[in-house]
Amino acid sequence: MKQYTVLSALQALENKTYTCEELVAKSIDCFEQDLKTDAPLNAFLEIYADALVQARRCDEERDRALAQGPDALKNLLAKKPLLGIPFGVKDNISVRGKSLTCASHILEGYTAPYNATVIQRLVDAGAVPLGRCNQDEFAMGSSTEYSAYGPTRNPINRTYVAGGSSGGSAAAVASGMVPFALGTETGGSVRLPASYCGVYGLKPTYGLLSRWGITAFGSSLDQAGVFGVTPDDIALPLRIMSGKDFYDDTSEDIPAGCEINSPCPPLADTEFASLKIAVPRQFAEAKGLDEEVAGIFEKVQTWFKERGSSIELVDIPVLDASIASYYVIALSEAASNLSRFDGIRYGNRKDRGEGYDDLFIQTRSEGFGAEVKRRIIIGNYVLSDQFSGTYYKRAMGVRARIQREIAALYKTYSCILCPTCPTPAFKLGQKTEDPMAMYLSDMFTVFVNLSRTASLNVPAGTTSAGLPVGVQFAGPMFSENRLLSMAKAWHTGRNGEKK
Ligand code: GLN
Repeated sequence: MKQYTVLSALQALENKTYTCEELVAKSIDCFEQDLKTDAPLNAFLEIYADALVQARRCDEERDRALAQGPDALKNLLAKKPLLGIPFGVKDNISVRGKSLTCASHILEGYTAPYNATVIQRLVDAGAVPLGRCNQDEFAMGSSTEYSAYGPTRNPINRTYVAGGSSGGSAAAVASGMVPFALGTETGGSVRLPASYCGVYGLKPTYGLLSRWGITAFGSSLDQAGVFGVTPDDIALPLRIMSGKDFYDDTSEDIPAGCEINSPCPPLADTEFASLKIAVPRQFAEAKGLDEEVAGIFEKVQTWFKERGSSIELVDIPVLDASIASYYVIALSEAASNLSRFDGIRYGNRKDRGEGYDDLFIQTRSEGFGAEVKRRIIIGNYVLSDQFSGTYYKRAMGVRARIQREIAALYKTYSCILCPTCPTPAFKLGQKTEDPMAMYLSDMFTVFVNLSRTASLNVPAGTTSAGLPVGVQFAGPMFSENRLLSMAKAWHTGRNGEKK
């Protein structure tokens, strides 16, 4: 079992080919082997010291139930369907008693006092948090090079970026360290690294997952997401984490008929035949769309057509303004959210004893990295009295239009198909000095966050240089089950074809 999945790991536990402890030990071993290589991935910033102890507890619980008979074990697994399965956690999600730094110096020394709801629900279901995954500082970036703790490398080719901002989680899954991992999305931070690393990555509907315990970046856009090697690796954790949470008023229960199935059933041939798919012209014909990415995207369209789905090129001109609107809104919200890091309430403090102003300035100047500072400055600028009408209000107007037009589109079309990123992964260091080039990596992803809808990165092929390329299966709010079912059919079809 080299690259194990959630379902194959559960099967191995059932067959007793592995214990929970062995599974977790295997993950730790994979991490340690990687440390010995010339260019370690830097996917995890920390492996939790008690992961093995937690795993042993899972084994004991399992053994106790088994001793009482098969029914007791069945009941236990119904309550704890992820018993003993390790997973990676992006460093901006709270795990009680553990460090949380958002890959920033400003949060050094901070310990999360409680579990994020998504973590609590996974832990209640028996899953074992393995450790903290690297990311861009405060989730701001598209390559995981803006981490204060060094970049994460792409497991497919270590001279390339893993993508960001949840690059550590993507690399941890792609390199087989964990069967699934949590990331977060504000504008593409799960889908983009999933695309660069060749794994599945879901950005769920806004509100499907509670944001309680997740460090805020752009609160009206933020949402946790899941990485997996197969659609099933996403479906089960998603089902467990989803639904209304008392601590997050924007969270929602899944509407009837949209429940997430696990294992996820592949979409039936008859259903493919009735799919009406929209391909936004603004993306298909985008300047800067890499030729090989376009070629792979073409092949995915053919695959759908062969199954009888209809595909139409649709014009959505407002999408051309999505990047501009996203960056104005995300940075405004970030500037306000990050004001809480003042050296008093959280983490690091630089106090020369010269009063509060000096303390704030010293702490923030030393604690935040260049990209975070750039965003705080831009965010405060566009929110200032003088300019908010020109920038913030107009960006909100664009957002409202995107939301309206995307919702209207989904009345006619079942889903949107488009590349996840205009290019495959780029070389480490290639874009760090050029923020605009970095921002443009998100040009196909941000409309999903702005419209609060759902989208899944699906590994679709590799370039001649062997780099993975992903496409998005995007759908209306609460279409996760359907998107995963489409992906399951794609995944089984492809893996069958390979044999
Ligand atoms: N790359 C985008 C940004 O830097 C998206 C980040 C994210 O989704 N967290 O804002």
